[in-house]
Parts: sequence; structure tokens; C-alpha cells
Amino acid sequence: MQKIENYINGQLVAATSGEYLENVEPATGKVYSLIPESNSEDLDAAVAAAEAIQTDWANTSLEKRAEILCRLADLIDANADELAEAEAIDNGKAISFAKAVDIYRSSANIRFFAHAGTQFASESHAMGNLAINYTLRDPIGIVACISPWNFPLYLFTWKIAPALASGNVVIAKPSEVTPMTAYLFSKLCVEAGLPAGVLNILHGSGQSIGGPITTHPKIKAISFTGGSATGAHISKVTAGMFKKLSLELGGKNPTLVFADCDLEETVNEVVKAAFSNQGQICLCGSRIYIERPIYEQFKTAFIAKVKALRIGDPLDPKTQHGATVSEAHMNKVLSYIELAQQEGGTILTGGKRHIENGRCQNGYFIEPTVIEGLDNQCRTNQEEIFGPVCSIMPFDKEQEAIQLANGTEYGLAASVWTNDLKRAHRVAKSIEAGIVWINCWLLRDLRTPFGGVKSSGVGREGGLEAMRFFTEPKNVCIKY
Ligand code: NAP
Repeated sequence: MQKIENYINGQLVAATSGEYLENVEPATGKVYSLIPESNSEDLDAAVAAAEAIQTDWANTSLEKRAEILCRLADLIDANADELAEAEAIDNGKAISFAKAVDIYRSSANIRFFAHAGTQFASESHAMGNLAINYTLRDPIGIVACISPWNFPLYLFTWKIAPALASGNVVIAKPSEVTPMTAYLFSKLCVEAGLPAGVLNILHGSGQSIGGPITTHPKIKAISFTGGSATGAHISKVTAGMFKKLSLELGGKNPTLVFADCDLEETVNEVVKAAFSNQGQICLCGSRIYIERPIYEQFKTAFIAKVKALRIGDPLDPKTQHGATVSEAHMNKVLSYIELAQQEGGTILTGGKRHIENGRCQNGYFIEPTVIEGLDNQCRTNQEEIFGPVCSIMPFDKEQEAIQLANGTEYGLAASVWTNDLKRAHRVAKSIEAGIVWINCWLLRDLRTPFGGVKSSGVGREGGLEAMRFFTEPKNVCIKY
């Protein structure tokens, strides 16, 4: 059985505990590799390695840092097939999606921030003839990057790339549910010549290694992506430690379909927004509000498209809808489908576990599920399900649609489908979210700020926002 290893001080090593967690392939339900269960002892070794190289890395020229990062991006591209397959096995996502989205974006993240590092500049503020201020932006030092399982390598690189490009040394923890591509990535770091200790990757559970990372006194900033409950927990346990925190959390995103939209294109895109990656994207639109005059027409076309999604073995290049990430998560999603029916919802399509034949007969597949007839306030429409489940509801007035959209504790993303330009601007401005897409979904420019409001997070990633997060500004004021 393959044993995943930690990456500490440039070496691939076992956890000091000698203990392992089982890593399950979601499409088959079988254990296929072992994950080191790291603890504080491993963390101390990683922090010592990071501390030893911290000054050297901070003083490495921008060009040299960019060169190493670009080499890493090139290595991801060169190994894209192997990484996409590993992601499909580890996560259950369709391999075509893994290659086109996860792995493509992983190298794009690293390349983007390699260049951002060389372009990043700080401000100066002149005070007439009296003085000039300039801002220094120094790396923070040792920072932590904690990432979730839904986009394992994509979100891992989205965090470590700006941290490294701005001169920090990093302790990173991928999700224990999907550790494989971070492990393969650590081998690429060795190949790319990343100096030992600059990046340290610790595997294991949130409890045994995630917790110690967040409270370690030498780790001065934490960039976290995951659930809102974990984000709240991290805020609580680090309160009083004066760490910089960036929290990218859950969502319950609205999709607003107006009667004047391009119906065919909208249906196609709204299906993607609801079900891509088995609905396991923080940005998925799980509450779909449709203007009443086109409600029935939209519903018919939407359900036909959802029914046509090809469920199957994630390793089959034709598969569009793979397995959910774990048995526990599958059961959670299925319990929400049950709840939706208790809350008065009608299942229009899906609603059950999907059983495959052959290799994947014990896999954690769920049929793409569409529910109708739910009240906006019910739990199904308020809580993040994070699976292939969406709820459709009619509305009559623009103002009503905005109120429905804003009627949850979350505020991550929204999409609006309309050909009325003034309405598009009006609605975008009124929606409580960190990102609003008009007539599109998941179209990402890496320079733009990314993050959520309300329970969806604190702070922004992306472009210069990430470079600012990972640096400490210092104002220098010089009197003429
Ligand atoms: P999660 O359970 O909160 O875990 C996220 C990461 O935190 C994992 O690496 C996890 O490790 C670790 N962790 C767990 N407990 C911890 C603790 N006490 N201290 C430190 N780290 C701890 O989230 P998930 O289930 O992996 O991911 C799904 C969630 O992420 C959804 O809510 C989704 O909306 C959100 N998400 C948000 C964004 C965004 O950009 N806003 C993007 C993607 C996903 P283990 O896995 O080992 O427990």
C-alpha cells in the first residue's frame, strides 16, 4: 500500500508518530493509500526548517523566486496527466474536469503569483514640501496555508504561491481527505530545486495537525479555506494571539434567472453552476430563483439537461458527474435530500444514491438532484449542503429576488442572468456577496479580489490582495 510522506526541510519523511490514516478512493470505497498522522513534533521540525531558511528566502531576489516558481508551474504542466488522474482517484471528480480545471489552474496559480511577485510595488505619499512617506512591504515570516478537499491542488497552490512569491516560508496542510496531489507536488518541489525548508507540507487530520498549526506561536499568519464552522473555530482559538487571518469559507449561492435572459445559454450554464464537481464548489449556485413567466419553460429545459449528465467512473474521460468525496459526505448530502422532502419539497429529478456497475459498484455517487416547492427559510435553502443538490423557486419582482438572494447567513457568490443592462448593474450592486457574475459563472481573472462577506469569510485572496495579505506594511516618513 502506498504511503504518503510529509515534506519537511526538503525531505520526504514519515510522521514521527508512525501512525497512518486510511485514504479511500471515493469511486470504489476502497482504501488505496495511507496518510501520515502528523502532530506537534512534526510541526516543530517543520517550523525549525522554515525558520532556518526564512531570512535567505526573504532576501532571495524576486527574479530568482519567480524562476523557481515558474519551474514548478512547468513541472505541473509536464505531469498534468498523472496529477489529473491522481486527483480523480483521490477526490472522485471526473478526470476531464480535473485536467481542465484543477490541474490547469494549479500551474496557472503558481505562474500568476511568480509574476505578481516581480510586479508587486508599494505606495509613496508625498506631503508637499514637508516630507515623503513610503511603504515597505516585508514578508511576514512563517505562515500557514490550510486548504480543503474540493479542489485539492488548485486551492493548495492558490495559497502557497502568493505566500512564497512574497518571500514567506510556509507550513501547509492539505485536507486529510485528499492528500495525494499535495504529496506528488512535494516531489516536484524537490525536482524544481525549491530550497529546503521554504515550503513544508504536513499531512494528517484537522485535530492532530491542523489545530497545532493554527496556534503555533511562531506562525504569524494563517490563510484558511474550508467550512464556516472550522473558520469560526480557528478565529476563536487564535483570538488574542494577534495572527493575521484570511478566511475563505462556505457559501449558499443564489442564481437569479430573469425572464429576459437567453434561455438556452442560461440553462446550460446554470446546470454547470449547480452541478460542476458534483456540486462541491464553494461557488456553486444551489438556490435558483426563476422569474415566474419563464419558470415552467426553464424548469423543463433545466431538468432535461440535468438528467443528461453522464454519471460514472471518474477515470472514464466521458464522465461528467463523478463520486462525492467520502462516504460521510455522501451520507450528509443524502440526509439533506431526506430533510428537503420533510420540509415539503418535491424531488423533480435525482434524489438517490447512484449505484454503478463493475469497479465502482461501492462508490459514493449521488444522482444530480433538483428540488421544487421549498420555502426560502427552510434548512435546505439556508444551510450549505455542498453536494449535487439544488432548489428551484419562482419570483415575481426584482426586489423580491434580491431579498431572497440575500436571505441567508452566507455571502460568497451569485450569478444573474438577464439582458437588461441597467438591471444587471442594479442587482449586482444590491447582492451581498464577494463576487457577482452576470451572464456567466466561474469565469475567473486571477487579478480580481476573491472572498466572501457575512459567514462566507473575512479578507480577500487573489491578485494584489493576496500579496498584501502575505506582507506586513511599514510606513517610513522622511522629513525634507
Ligand atoms: P473543513 O472541514 O473546514 O476543512 C478545511 C481544512 O481545515 C482541511 O485541511 C481540514 O483538515 C482543516 N481543519 C479541520 N479542522 C481544523 C482545525 N481545528 N484547525 C485547523 N485546521 C482544521 O472544510 P472541508 O470540508 O475540507 O471543505 C469544504 C468547505 O470548504 C465548504 O464549506 C466549502 O464551501 C468551503 N470552501 C470554501 C472556499 C472559498 O474560497 N470560500 C473554497 C473551497 C471550499 P482535515 O480535512 O484533515 O479535517
